[in-house]
Amino acid sequence: MPLAGIRDWVFDLDNTLYPAPTLYDAIGERMTSYIARHARVDEMRALELREHYFHEYGATVVGLSRHHDIDADDFMLDVHDVDYSVLGEDRELAALIAKLPGRKIIFTNGGGGHAERTLKALGLADLFEHVFDLGDSGYAPKPQLQSYERLCTAFDIDPTRAILIEDTLRNLEPAHDMGFATALVGPVHPDPRPSYVQHYAYDVHTLLRDWIGA
Ligand SMILES: [Mg+2]
Repeated sequence: MPLAGIRDWVFDLDNTLYPAPTLYDAIGERMTSYIARHARVDEMRALELREHYFHEYGATVVGLSRHHDIDADDFMLDVHDVDYSVLGEDRELAALIAKLPGRKIIFTNGGGGHAERTLKALGLADLFEHVFDLGDSGYAPKPQLQSYERLCTAFDIDPTRAILIEDTLRNLEPAHDMGFATALVGPVHPDPRPSYVQHYAYDVHTLLRDWIGA
């Protein structure tokens, strides 16, 4: 298979391993009402803040803890208290990931137990050695370089023998600069494709099927 030298397979979670809109509405509504309650603004303003901080910092919670008296851990736990059973098991994906040789690691800007609950609902929990989430990064979300450096330190990852698989284009560039191989998944692709995107596919199933030769 291609990528024979890869030792660590680092996967983003949301919109990479599953279509996140399934959960985003429920989580987003909890975010908006949490912001409204704790920042004492109306729901319309809360929604504006949520989106503004997401674009500004890569994760809403970073802006909230920086500019409002909001506890990041409490926010993350509260907003992810949603029904994960809307996600079904993905046995095909489980079989594909199981065939990859080496460690499998989740690297996500989510937090508050979101990754663990998502993996469990998808039937993928046993396939990943590690989960590295926003809390583990010290609330330094991708694409901040610190986030990638902390990931590599935490699990002793050699970036030149690792690949990052992501749906968010901007998160691949720092990884590539550090020596990671990169793969972009998702229905929309930039044209022309930047040179830091080495592999790409419509979805993760297609990408892995192609690599494994299934
Ligand atoms: Mg994603």
